[in-house]
Amino acid sequence: MNMEFERKLTLPSEVKEMFPLSDDMIKIIEGRRKEIEAVFEGRSDKLILIIGPCSADNEESVIDYISRLVPLQEKVKDKILIIPRIYTNKPRTTGEGYKGMLHQPDPTGKSDLFKGIIATRHLHMRAIKETGFTCADEMLYPENYQYLDDLLAYVAVGARSVEDQQHRLTASGIDVPVGMKNPTSGDYSVMLNAILAAQHPHTFIYRGWEVKSFGNPHTHAILRGSTNKHGQSIPNYHYEDLVRLCDNYEARELKNPAVIIDTNHSNSNKNPFEQPRLIKDVLNSAKHNERIAKLLKGFMVESYIEDGAQKVGEGVYGKSITDPCLGWEKTEKLICDIAESR
Ligand code: PEP
Ligand code: MN
Repeated sequence: MNMEFERKLTLPSEVKEMFPLSDDMIKIIEGRRKEIEAVFEGRSDKLILIIGPCSADNEESVIDYISRLVPLQEKVKDKILIIPRIYTNKPRTTGEGYKGMLHQPDPTGKSDLFKGIIATRHLHMRAIKETGFTCADEMLYPENYQYLDDLLAYVAVGARSVEDQQHRLTASGIDVPVGMKNPTSGDYSVMLNAILAAQHPHTFIYRGWEVKSFGNPHTHAILRGSTNKHGQSIPNYHYEDLVRLCDNYEARELKNPAVIIDTNHSNSNKNPFEQPRLIKDVLNSAKHNERIAKLLKGFMVESYIEDGAQKVGEGVYGKSITDPCLGWEKTEKLICDIAESR
């Protein structure tokens, strides 16, 4: 092969031994998992808010951000269930650029995958210990999932991965809700087939083992908008898009029908300041239509301390180095406004 095998990496079980969970952390993780499951099973009508930076680029600013969510969560706890985004892997359309904390624990430094594995586990653990939040991450590389599987509250499969068989099979063996994004083409059937596949048991190869998964009944849809052949963004959060998803769900035998609306990416045309308006629009659609109200479980929002985005190396604390985000003040107002409107 045209590659060099540089070093053998520590196994997930060994990394877990190096960084074990305390009894208190296990209690938090289990409690949060039950609460989140209740929403996806329709036993709780809280809205889930998966919110945070596009990429977790810096441990201090991410913990600072998530710590700010703590008093807000307390304030809106009867209506909203917050799941912070700690996204440690970034898909890159051309393979160029910052690939996330797993690859580059220091965004301005070279790739160091061993340090990256430790850094991502450390960050997710620190969030639980210091804030009581278990968080969401994207499963970009299914074989790496076991480094974090005991910590996460929620997993997303991205628009560029959702058609991939190994992602679907691995999702079928995950014990927290997995959100399948619509692909960048916007084709709902790709997303719905991914949900169907992940809701069923499979036998496959995983990390050198023949494994059997049991199916994940909490796999669901995430609408993130699409891109047309001219590269323009086509949103899919409008009333008609949601009705169409209700119809598609009804025509298939899927467990726990659910949708999360991703308000950034191709839904906002990457204008993060559109996100509050999108949320209002979707909540309004839900008020008009009971089927939408039942299907809608929450939102995914890209938010950080500072508004917008910067280039890697510019060094502004708490400002995204990937997709532009909604800054803290606007985020705080958004969360309070959603709670008030419910
Ligand atoms: C993201 O959530 O930051 C992301 C990369 O999303 P998508 O896969 O929808 O592009
Ligand atoms: Mn993003």
